[in-house]
Amino acid sequence: MTAKMQKNFVLEVEGLTVSFDGFKAVNDFSFYVEEEEIRVIIGPNGAGKTTVLDLICGKTKATEGAIRFRGRDLTKMNEHTIVHTGVGRKFQNPSIYEDLTVFENLEISYPKGRSVIGALAFKRNKKVIEAVNDIAETIFLADCLDKTAGLLSHGQKQWLEIGMLLIQNPDLLMLDEPVAGMSVAERKQTADLLNRITKGRAVIVIEHDMQFVEDIAHRVTVMHQGKTLSEGSMDRVKNDPKVVEVYLGH
Ligand code: ADP
Ligand code: MG
Repeated sequence: MTAKMQKNFVLEVEGLTVSFDGFKAVNDFSFYVEEEEIRVIIGPNGAGKTTVLDLICGKTKATEGAIRFRGRDLTKMNEHTIVHTGVGRKFQNPSIYEDLTVFENLEISYPKGRSVIGALAFKRNKKVIEAVNDIAETIFLADCLDKTAGLLSHGQKQWLEIGMLLIQNPDLLMLDEPVAGMSVAERKQTADLLNRITKGRAVIVIEHDMQFVEDIAHRVTVMHQGKTLSEGSMDRVKNDPKVVEVYLGH
């Protein structure tokens, strides 16, 4: 038995490769994420970080390799099924309903009311209201429930979108550059938020802000040219000469 088999991994990615017209954006990439772990993926632009998330959530199909989530092979599933198995993913730009209130945005994200029309027609039962209030508290928007989402600050919109994923209670949450464009204070709050939500779930975050990475990462994977350049604790990768050369030195 190898060391990695003894651990309790929620996600196992092995030999993952995707080829776009012969160019391997992700090239024989493997990584293993533990239960309740916050894993941060860093690396230069074009390293393949976003593509890895695209492959896990089924937006892009792998050319080769395996993606096992709690033992189930995600490469055989479509995006919708992957969401239903418990994988939530936030893209770089917030995709919230700007014309709806914060409350409504969270409400329509509640698992029973996925479509806008369905959700607004469906009765606001107590369970949904409780879940919305609970999540609003977590994402620092408890005082903004009646506010139109389009009027929120950029940082608040990012939190709202995280809330819209959290209300679906995913077992794996993936966030692509969640603090881009945020103030220093908002970044701290976001780190605090992520550190509070790992009970029963793993989180994968792509980020460039090293202070933020330091504040959240249990382990860091450094990608370069579609492969793992280095992996381990923040301290370890920070002092890895290869990482300094291709990434941190710039
Ligand atoms: P990162 O997120 O690390 O900055 P990406 O995963 O977005 O990098 O991109 C990795 C490489 O793959 C880039 O060279 C990008 O242009 C290319 N790429 C990503 N998606 C596609 C696609 N759908 N078709 C062709 N090339 C792509
Ligand atoms: Mg990217």
